[in-house]
Amino acid sequence: MSCKLTQRFVPGYLDGELDLSRTIEMETHLQTCGECARELERLQALRAALQRGALAYAAPAGLRERIQSSLSAPTPGETSKRTSGWPAMQFLRPLLLLRWAGAFAVLALCAVTAWQLLPGLRGPTSDQRIEAEVFASHVKSLEASHLMDVASTDQHTVKPWFDGKLDFSPPVEDLASDDFPLVGGRLDYLEGREVAALVYQRRKHFINVFVWPDAAGSKSEQTVESRQGYNLVRWSRGGFQFWAVSDVSAPDLAEFVRLLETRIAPEPK
Ligand SMILES: [Zn+2]
Repeated sequence: MSCKLTQRFVPGYLDGELDLSRTIEMETHLQTCGECARELERLQALRAALQRGALAYAAPAGLRERIQSSLSAPTPGETSKRTSGWPAMQFLRPLLLLRWAGAFAVLALCAVTAWQLLPGLRGPTSDQRIEAEVFASHVKSLEASHLMDVASTDQHTVKPWFDGKLDFSPPVEDLASDDFPLVGGRLDYLEGREVAALVYQRRKHFINVFVWPDAAGSKSEQTVESRQGYNLVRWSRGGFQFWAVSDVSAPDLAEFVRLLETRIAPEPK
């Protein structure tokens, strides 16, 4: 694994987002490369500083009671007593409430800030984890010159190649007539399972399309993400989950996904 790739994956490594094989590669590289090890230490120190910092405050124990007592509606007797005894307090009550409201707003803001600054404390969601894996696989397939196990522009060669290698048969479509030629495929590993990776080309750029059966099985809306100069689109169709990732422009990738969707499940005429 190169230094450039290692340093790109360091944040994901710290967040526990990398898959096992990539974690092992990272750790092997970190043992021998001082520069990358220092980058890891720098990020660890930053995270520790954020966790130590006074970003969140616990409300003092008596706060609830004091607010409740200041909010509780006074009985008519109390009002007259307070009015007669402490006329100034009656005037000050709205100000006191405002002060408490302000204190609450500050506490809420601190909590939200801490939540946003420390994603590692929340743990990634399943989608975030897959996205990180998809992104990592795409980058790795380009850097490690392991883009394709089967290099062919013929979908009738690529599709049967997966037979017997996967427990499902991925839909394989060539989009050469739309200037997105299929160039090959390979096996990849995501979410703890083997998946199909189909490789398409747009001029000098590659598009990886990862395909595996969708447990939910329903058609879903596309989600579009961008990550360090790459665009990622996720969707489900026909019982499969798809992730397309590339450094082609977002409109080009959207057009590619639209064309692919049309081929896989033609719109009813
Ligand atoms: Zn290095």
